[in-house]
Amino acid sequence: MARRFVVNEKDISNINEDTIAIYGSEVKHIQVLRFNVGDAVTVNDGIYKIVEMKRDTVYLQYIKKANEVGVPSSNVTLYIALLKNDKLDFVIQKAVELGVKKIVPFTSSNVVVKLDDKSRQKRIEKLNKVAIEACKQCGRTDYVNVLNVLNFKNLKETLKNEKRVLFAYEASKDSLKKEINDIKEENINDIGIVIGAEGGFTESEAEELKNIENVKCVSLGTRILRAETAALNLISIVMYELEE
Ligand code: SAM
Repeated sequence: MARRFVVNEKDISNINEDTIAIYGSEVKHIQVLRFNVGDAVTVNDGIYKIVEMKRDTVYLQYIKKANEVGVPSSNVTLYIALLKNDKLDFVIQKAVELGVKKIVPFTSSNVVVKLDDKSRQKRIEKLNKVAIEACKQCGRTDYVNVLNVLNFKNLKETLKNEKRVLFAYEASKDSLKKEINDIKEENINDIGIVIGAEGGFTESEAEELKNIENVKCVSLGTRILRAETAALNLISIVMYELEE
């Protein structure tokens, strides 16, 4: 198989029907590895021939779809609060390994991380790099996108578009097992997982989430887990149950 490079969608532009241009860190990587015009490379899910190389850009002509490896058949999206320090990096790395397809950070009342527009953009870029590295390291041939940070209002709106959402809430008494059985019986393939910040959700935020029709509030047991533990625990259970 041609050597694989993972490029963020924002670093790809379509030049014409079968040619794309890529930018960013994988361009340097291709050059460092001494690839040249005429060589074949795999970029995300396609195999391409290098048709032109410039300092900051590589032009690629599409050959065919690459064989998929490690790509889960279910669409699990992790909605996770902006956690402190490098905890979010850790969760993202592990969530990618476990088979999450998309990651959406959000803020809520108890999120202590405050980012202005510039630092938020930088943070998302860094988190996308973490996701790309994790895809490569675990041998996934797809690309896991870390989307822009949602505020709580937009989080609620976005969750309405999911087929089913498992909202992990420490004050819940509702059975995760039951909700997972329902998901399996109904053959639901698109699932959102919501994990709060270190300080969790306020009661009123939790009520608002619970009131969304497709959102099922679930308990992960009687112990209060750290957000990182809760995220990886719930993702692992869902992936196991969906046989991913
Ligand atoms: N608000 C809590 C407090 O300060 O006591 C703790 C929040 S917990 C550290 C972070 C997140 O992990 C929660 O928002 C929730 O999504 C999830 N979580 C932790 N333990 C849980 C449990 N036993 N059941 C369901 N979700 C849990």
